Amino acid sequence: MASQEIETLASALARLPGLGPRSARRAVLWLVKRRDNALGPLVDALEAVRDRLVECRICSNVDTQNPCGICADPRRDQKSICVVEDVADLWALDRAKLFTGRYHVLGGKLSAMDGIRPEDLNIAALLDRVAGGGTDEIVLAMNATLEGQTTAHYIAERLEDFPVRITQLAHGLPVGGELDYLDEGTLAQALRARRPVD
Ligand SMILES: [Zn+2]
Repeated sequence: MASQEIETLASALARLPGLGPRSARRAVLWLVKRRDNALGPLVDALEAVRDRLVECRICSNVDTQNPCGICADPRRDQKSICVVEDVADLWALDRAKLFTGRYHVLGGKLSAMDGIRPEDLNIAALLDRVAGGGTDEIVLAMNATLEGQTTAHYIAERLEDFPVRITQLAHGLPVGGELDYLDEGTLAQALRARRPVD
């Protein structure tokens, strides 16, 4: 029988996506055997992220600086904004390293079933960004789900009166596909073949 502290650690790890109780126990055992060169650095990294975690005031990305590393990077194209549902989608797209502009995280998607309305999403802040000027292109990178596409259409409508080009990811995206689960090649292809919203 392990001590209460070790049990607590194991059940905390078991709640991580992709880990169940068995793998959590194996991870704990692995960590306790490497107290100095694995457990210590992990604790330090977790503490640093916990203490400094902030939501970017421009794009709502999650980072340890505000504005986030992407918004603060002067090498990124200021004229192009890629709109995504969630932070996970932003990270997936940015891993593909094909989009050189900046992002805007909606924090979800419109859903009649879940009662998610436009005012529940980060849409007003997007309109403010565009109204502030300097934006040439909005790339709507919603998931290829019904709700994702409904959200994309709604945003395209709200942006209609602004002098910006509105494009969306090409539908080489598998239907029902969630960006976060696509490989980088597929994502890059969808971004490269982006087309005007009809
Ligand atoms: Zn940002």
